[in-house]
Amino acid sequence: MTVLQVSVYERQSQTRMTGNRKTEITGKQQELLKRLPGVDLVLDTISTRKLFTDIPKSVVTAAVRNVINQLRAEIMSNPEYFAETRLSPATVVECVRDAVSAAMALNLDRLINATGVVVHTNLGRSLLSNDALGHMKTVAGHYSNLEFDLATGKRGLRYTVVEDLICEISGAEAAMVVNNNAAAVLLSLDTVARGREVIVSRGELVEIGGSFRIPDVMAKSGGILKEVGTTNRTHRFDYQNALTEETGLLLKVHTSNFGIVGFTKSVSLAELVELGREHHVPVMEDLGSGTFTDFSRYGLLKEPTVQESVATGADIVTFSGDKLLGGPQAGIIVGKAPLIQQIQKNPLNRALRIDKLTLAALESTLRAYRDESLAIRDIPTLRMLTCPIDKIAEKAEALQARLSPVIGESLETAVVDAASRAGGGALPLLELPSKCVSLCAKSLSAKAMETRLRNQRPPIIVRIENDRVLMDMRTVQSDEIETIAEAITRIVNEAEHDPSL
Ligand SMILES: *Cc1c(COP(=O)(O)O)cnc(C)c1O
Repeated sequence: MTVLQVSVYERQSQTRMTGNRKTEITGKQQELLKRLPGVDLVLDTISTRKLFTDIPKSVVTAAVRNVINQLRAEIMSNPEYFAETRLSPATVVECVRDAVSAAMALNLDRLINATGVVVHTNLGRSLLSNDALGHMKTVAGHYSNLEFDLATGKRGLRYTVVEDLICEISGAEAAMVVNNNAAAVLLSLDTVARGREVIVSRGELVEIGGSFRIPDVMAKSGGILKEVGTTNRTHRFDYQNALTEETGLLLKVHTSNFGIVGFTKSVSLAELVELGREHHVPVMEDLGSGTFTDFSRYGLLKEPTVQESVATGADIVTFSGDKLLGGPQAGIIVGKAPLIQQIQKNPLNRALRIDKLTLAALESTLRAYRDESLAIRDIPTLRMLTCPIDKIAEKAEALQARLSPVIGESLETAVVDAASRAGGGALPLLELPSKCVSLCAKSLSAKAMETRLRNQRPPIIVRIENDRVLMDMRTVQSDEIETIAEAITRIVNEAEHDPSL
């Protein structure tokens, strides 16, 4: 071990030495380095010109240092192509300006989703309703009765904020909420199945993005995975034969992000509940992207609802708050009261608990579900998923109309039919008919256009199909059309004036 470390160190220092020998400073480099202004000089210039007065001093100093280091590195690596004009104080200050604005920009910021994926995990999944946003703001800026019972003046439980609502909507006996659905699954398994066997069909051992895999979560929870059946077909007798004294749970997992088609067979939740009752073993269903809405009523594919799982008799049902539900990131656990109580008392729960801002957003989102027409109207995820095609076409035409001044020689656009996706591991096989605005710029490839749109503020995220940029208007909000049009106009004009860009 020690010997190896020494030899690696020696090799590194040798390379460094050879490196040094190679890079002897040339006359041209010496000349340029002499002209390179020092940090203090640039800072003095900035201060006499009263620049960046509202920027923290530390940020300005760091930006100056970075710019000078960058210039020095370029002089060292590529002196022949280094233009001396770049060392003038005015030019250096301009570079500092760029560095300062990059340093002051928020790292997490809004963007425009023109991908057509409604619940896009990389782009923040669900947008909150106005009610949820308002509620979050109130609770964030004031003290609240988060864990305080106003009736008794004594300590209360944060879960009670939403428990009644969740039970009212889902028909469940009891409910609780945690940080996300991964936590809900882990906590439930840890409580019910630690040290015991959990029977799962081989067709349901899913991996969700972000390294959530059923076998790994099972291992972490201390449950012992007992796989049954095959990838495409699992029968009731498979579960039956696997049931022993050691069985602690029958688990059904929603195959959120893939479909098995063809010669298939799976065992329904109803059958599992029947088996579980016969053998006194609880049954849990991880719905993943749980929904309270029967989407088949809106012309979409049928997705199992939370209400159905509860009514079928599952003892525990887990689902996400920010997928098809359209609320904040949260994990919701509903089920039989004694089990939910046990889960609440698990010490692990404290580490996975939901915070007050999420709780506020979740409560307001849930309230909308008391009247489904309100939920569809007010919850952006539901609104986008069920949006009629002519509404989407209107947005596409509005964008195209707004682009008309630049359409012609330099830019071609068209409104084309395309398919959006629900995303978030929901309705995986569903393609939602949608309308896209396609862009074809004379002096920019689709890839270059995509990059430039992504570098706007706010960034505009699009997809490329058949060498065309497509902007799916399902996930574009009406008040974003103007911003997109301005960005495209700017990009096209810049490309026209400098095609080398
Ligand atoms: C998405 C999903 C999860 C994880 O939910 P998060 O809210 O992202 O933690 C777990 N199980 C299934 C089946 C899922 O689809």
